[in-house]
Amino acid sequence: LNRHLPCFSSSFGGFGHSGASLHTESEDGSGFKGHGMLAPFTAGWQISDLHPLVIERSEGSYVFDTNGKKYLDSLAGLWCTALGGSEPRLVAAATSQLNKLPFYHSFWNRTTKPSLDLAKELLEMFTARKMGKVFFTNSGSEANDSQVKLVWYYNNALGRLNKKKFIARTKAYHGSTLISASLSGLPPLHQKFDLPAPFVLHTDCPHYWRYHLPGETEEEFSGRLATNLENLILKEGPDTIAAFIAEPIMGAGGVIPPPKYYFEKVQAVLKKYDILFIADEVITAFGRLGTMFGCDKYNIQPDLVSLAKALSSAYMPIGAILVSPEIADVIHSQSNKLGSFSHGFTYSGHPVSCAVALEALKIYKERNIAERVRNLTPHFQEGIKAFAGSPIIGEIRGTGLILGTEFIDNKSPNDPFPSEWGVGAIFGAECEKRGMLVRVAGDGIFMSPPLTISPQELDELIGIYEEALKSTEEKVE
Ligand code: PLP
Repeated sequence: LNRHLPCFSSSFGGFGHSGASLHTESEDGSGFKGHGMLAPFTAGWQISDLHPLVIERSEGSYVFDTNGKKYLDSLAGLWCTALGGSEPRLVAAATSQLNKLPFYHSFWNRTTKPSLDLAKELLEMFTARKMGKVFFTNSGSEANDSQVKLVWYYNNALGRLNKKKFIARTKAYHGSTLISASLSGLPPLHQKFDLPAPFVLHTDCPHYWRYHLPGETEEEFSGRLATNLENLILKEGPDTIAAFIAEPIMGAGGVIPPPKYYFEKVQAVLKKYDILFIADEVITAFGRLGTMFGCDKYNIQPDLVSLAKALSSAYMPIGAILVSPEIADVIHSQSNKLGSFSHGFTYSGHPVSCAVALEALKIYKERNIAERVRNLTPHFQEGIKAFAGSPIIGEIRGTGLILGTEFIDNKSPNDPFPSEWGVGAIFGAECEKRGMLVRVAGDGIFMSPPLTISPQELDELIGIYEEALKSTEEKVE
């Protein structure tokens, strides 16, 4: 193994751009090598020693760097450019709105037509249960932060002054603002940031392969986790627990689909103790799992839903919260008492973002995007899962157009490769060399291509994966 590769393997970080050879070194005149950005989720050594991979242009499922090199974008940006990188209708929607009304806000019952239309459309599209209102944000993190404030406001209105704690899950990713990072269950998001906030508790990660007991079935595993959740609620006092938040499929924490009966059992516990369910659909909404929403796939009846990313196919920043009619009613009456619902952002319901999102939703419906994903699912899932026998792979998991690979020694979840080997980073670099970008997180590799990816492009993706795997095996074995 090439032990000289830098270590990429923190459990969450390690985005793993390792294409140093693709770029030339230079200095910016200050004596500090590297660029001027304090880059998100990037290590200091990456910024100071390497040039970043600078992406300049996109076309369908591909992006191009400043040297003109073409990459299949197997993560769709950050799980978000659902319609690929060059959808002219989204560009036209943005341009037309920019020409007509580039901005107006939505405070004090003033608003814009695109934001009203988008709210109406989202309420119609979400059918796992009836939702009442939509609150707009600029991102998924802001959506989850806002969820916490909404729930506190709601419980205060009901006089439930102690019902304020949140239960999230180990390995969850809900964003990186103060509260959404607290809800996340990934140690690098907490370490040295003085997080998580004390009102956030974490319960088990529902990863069957990694955490099941010998002989335990998936259903038994789900039952045990639901019991642990109930015990946590009882220990803390049900009157202190406001809400539970979960991604239908865990994304950044490892692409972890729920085990059988997990959400049925969890929802039963929450119902028993009058605890709200917040579905974080920031990655799973709008077709990625082969259903319009993750809640449809897993039969979740949430009280609140967080959306972002594919909402606009990432062409403009926008997030949203769907609020149940019951919660919306309480918020309205409370705001009447207080004079207003004093929460919102300058850009809540930004008309350009809303116009783009409206067009994206129109395209998802016109092109039956969820059905398209269902049809592509066997090609993608079986195509990659065919490599599960590799001696360096522990598990390949996913559904629809989302997939995670975990590298491990001896096929055992208890035998990670030494982190300094950077096995995931080696695989990521091998893909990059061959013209494909994957997400590297420690020894996990994640892919969630655009929902518009063609069968030929899926063949290319699988082909590059296979070659990169072979090279990685040779280096590791
Ligand atoms: N929730 C989930 C499930 C996510 O995957 C992400 C981002 O990856 C977020 C929230 C945060 O969204 P944003 O980066 O738009 O703040």
